[in-house]
Amino acid sequence: PEVREKIAAGEVIERPLSVVKELLENSLDAGAKRVSVALSQGGKTSITVEDDGSGIPFEDLPLALTRHATSKIRSVDDLYGIRSLGFRGEALASICAVSRLEIRSRRMDQELGGLIIAEGGEIVLHERVPHPVGTVVKVEELFFNLPARRKFLKSPSAEVRRISQLLQEMSLVNFHRRIQLSSDGRRVFESPGFESPRDAARHLWGCDPKEGFMDHQGLSCHLLWSGSGEGRGNLCFFVNGRRIHDPSLRAAIQGASGTLGGDWVVFLVVPPEEVDVNVHPTKSEVRFKRPRDVFSLVHRGALSVIGGGLG
Ligand code: ADP
Ligand code: MG
Repeated sequence: PEVREKIAAGEVIERPLSVVKELLENSLDAGAKRVSVALSQGGKTSITVEDDGSGIPFEDLPLALTRHATSKIRSVDDLYGIRSLGFRGEALASICAVSRLEIRSRRMDQELGGLIIAEGGEIVLHERVPHPVGTVVKVEELFFNLPARRKFLKSPSAEVRRISQLLQEMSLVNFHRRIQLSSDGRRVFESPGFESPRDAARHLWGCDPKEGFMDHQGLSCHLLWSGSGEGRGNLCFFVNGRRIHDPSLRAAIQGASGTLGGDWVVFLVVPPEEVDVNVHPTKSEVRFKRPRDVFSLVHRGALSVIGGGLG
């Protein structure tokens, strides 16, 4: 690929963690009930994500690797009502530009599946093969053609920790799905699938979470708190199922909880047209139409959880 493409790829794909995030989002968008992630050497040698989702039609495999090819948006207006996690049509093209990528997939309505292999953005094989319904994406030798970036990858154990944290967080919002992580053949994390986010949090935290709900003018939030003195002080925010980072929402929780600490998970539901997720290539920052309402909703929600949890 050209330098320009490699730079563009680097914006979305910084490290194995970003590959896992994007592939996991694709599996979730495909309606998978089960997603398994396998790493070797912290993802430096290979990252495999396997799902039982809808699959990719054989003839669409080359298209899926093309920049701005997304099956998730039909018109510009759709951009303002985005519900799926992916929509930029950039992830697979970016990963493909900087690795050796292999996809095996089959859609329910097709008898045979398909295999596509690309190296550094060039398709080297596209053929029909048998495959169960669903998709396996394998990414090998990440950044083999960007040696400077490959050299500065974090240690495998640090990368596995971050990826494990990502999957743990995603298991809260995808509580009903089975999500597994293994590293060099060893099971690192498994969420067997639960009835509720609260059950998933109980599994993760090893304590019974305090729970609260708050609504205000079409906005709603659901909060879970590990309780005072529990956890590591992680704050985790989801907006319409998407994990986001937002300093102002952190402040809303910290303002309410003061020195009590504990882990928090906040699920915000906002009308899709009131949240712009197209702010940053990694889609982890968003812009709200009514930021102050969202802040006060979360702040009041946290106070009510603490009040209930301490009382
Ligand atoms: P985006 O997710 O933004 O649409 P991607 O580059 O991540 O773009 O994926 C491109 C397309 O490939 C998706 O729109 C989808 O149609 C298809 N795709 C990728 N991964 C999967 C998967 N695991 N299951 C089904 N379809 C997939
Ligand atoms: Mg995607």
